Amino acid sequence: MIPIRHDTHSASAVAAVPKFVRCAQCGSDWAYLLVREGRGTMHTIWGIGAESARLVAKGKARQALQEMLSNDCEVIPCPDCGALQPEMQPKHRWRLLVHVMAWTIVVLTLILFAYPAIRRSIPTHPNAWILMWTMLTAVWALAVSWVLLHDVNARALSRSEKAAGPNRLVIRGPDLDRLRNPSQPPPAPAASTAL
Ligand SMILES: [Zn+2]
Repeated sequence: MIPIRHDTHSASAVAAVPKFVRCAQCGSDWAYLLVREGRGTMHTIWGIGAESARLVAKGKARQALQEMLSNDCEVIPCPDCGALQPEMQPKHRWRLLVHVMAWTIVVLTLILFAYPAIRRSIPTHPNAWILMWTMLTAVWALAVSWVLLHDVNARALSRSEKAAGPNRLVIRGPDLDRLRNPSQPPPAPAASTAL
């Protein structure tokens, strides 16, 4: 069999776009920067068309980047009221779900390791086992349904800047104006800081 030389050309592209937010709950205006990296790959056989493969990979990376920049968002609470905007909520719930799944794996692993000990201490009580698994399943089901159904903004105020301190990801005030009108010249430095 003749080995077929197989090359993979990969490219990546990084960019940042400002995302302007008008809070759905309190109406305050702010923005943040969405930074994403797009990746693209293209394969060649026997090194044929390596140059165009590189270009295709680059194009794919740019396209992936463009899609991410227009469709993706960050989960950043409103600085004034702490609300998460509607487009951020599914991502927020997904992250919570990942936490629940990670904890599920931790608990199941612990049970697996503790199994011989638990078995000795609950020797011949099938009901105890049934009870334990029923309770664990109930707790798990409660946690998952809470993640999927709870009102994300019920305790929003605790995420506001007033309660949680300044959020460095949030762009407001003069910086926000400059982001809206990039053609405006930057303001002269108010006071020079002597070093
Ligand atoms: Zn708000």
